[in-house]
Amino acid sequence: MALTSGLGGQLSIDLGALARNWRALDKVSAGALTAAVVKADAYGTGITTASKALHAAGARFFFVATPDEGIAVRAAVPDAHIFVLNGLYPGAANLYIRQNLMPVLASMPMLEEWLAKCVERNEAYPSAFHFDTGINRLGFRLNEASVVRERIQALGYAPQMVMSHLACADQPNHEKNRTQLALFGSVMNQFPGIPASLSNSAGLMTGRDYHFQMVRPGIALYGGRAVNGRKNPMAPVVTLHVPILQVTEARTGETVGYGGTYSLSRNSRLAIISHGYADGFFRSLSASNARPGGKVAIRNKICPVIGRISMDQSVVDITELGSDIPSPGEGAEVLGDMIGIDDQADAAGTIGYEVLTSLKGRYSRNYIGDGNLPQE
Ligand SMILES: *Cc1c(COP(=O)(O)O)cnc(C)c1O
Repeated sequence: MALTSGLGGQLSIDLGALARNWRALDKVSAGALTAAVVKADAYGTGITTASKALHAAGARFFFVATPDEGIAVRAAVPDAHIFVLNGLYPGAANLYIRQNLMPVLASMPMLEEWLAKCVERNEAYPSAFHFDTGINRLGFRLNEASVVRERIQALGYAPQMVMSHLACADQPNHEKNRTQLALFGSVMNQFPGIPASLSNSAGLMTGRDYHFQMVRPGIALYGGRAVNGRKNPMAPVVTLHVPILQVTEARTGETVGYGGTYSLSRNSRLAIISHGYADGFFRSLSASNARPGGKVAIRNKICPVIGRISMDQSVVDITELGSDIPSPGEGAEVLGDMIGIDDQADAAGTIGYEVLTSLKGRYSRNYIGDGNLPQE
């Protein structure tokens, strides 16, 4: 719930950066269509606004996880081609057809339900087929490929696309990438002439071998790190500033926060910020004396969180700011130029994806720009 008074934090989403990121990825995958993955509220940035901006940048193919998300994209972008990654929800075929959503079919029951609807209405409604090549998540098993092929040949049906998903693309040298690539080739052989798609953001960045006819970037669009151990080339999209509520002082030996897990080794100046785990500031960003936690930037200096993160507040050690003392109401940067989503993720022991999709706190969301870039 955002604060209606405007007194809370400010989450800013740079739609120009989002659009530039899409364009940059579209260049890298020049021989393939570049879709946009906008599941989970466009990684926390707002599915409606983000989808419109991505469309303005040039995206025409959109991937969502659920049919509800598909309905949201359909309303935002009437001419979008929309794939639903979680597949066909039982009993939902009519809804998909009404909204012109393409299920990414992943099992024989899903396929049979979709084909039955096509037969009933005498129309080949489009879909994609998802084959599991090693992640062991959603997908037809490899040994089902020939059964699937025979089944659709008998009906004269063909999917729009055959796809799979990489398990270890964030580690480009992981041997599983080559294995999945080879197995995907064997699937494609069963569906000659059907466009193929294998890559998320990291796969797209791994190389042309992985592009096929369509790539499906998500995290990189939103400025997140897709590939580990490499400089992230994407423009940051999200910044978050939260207000300082109080500046106070505490003495050597006193403890900070619930559980008293952090005791001060010096007389300290503390800033209490209006940001806690209910706002997406993970409790795992708590700091004890044994283990450092999250950081925020105040007055352009990176300052550590100390003690436990609470539901609505966190405590930041600003002793190092010296006489440069911030005032209540001033902003603390949680995400921005000085602290990126992956810095916060690393400190919390998670990934940028979870930082972004947890941005549902009590702050207002502002959009910068609209995704309309100058034509090149
Ligand atoms: C989420 C998802 C993507 C996008 O992945 P990123 O790592 O965010 O680029 C692509 N394909 C599938 C099947 C997904 O579930």
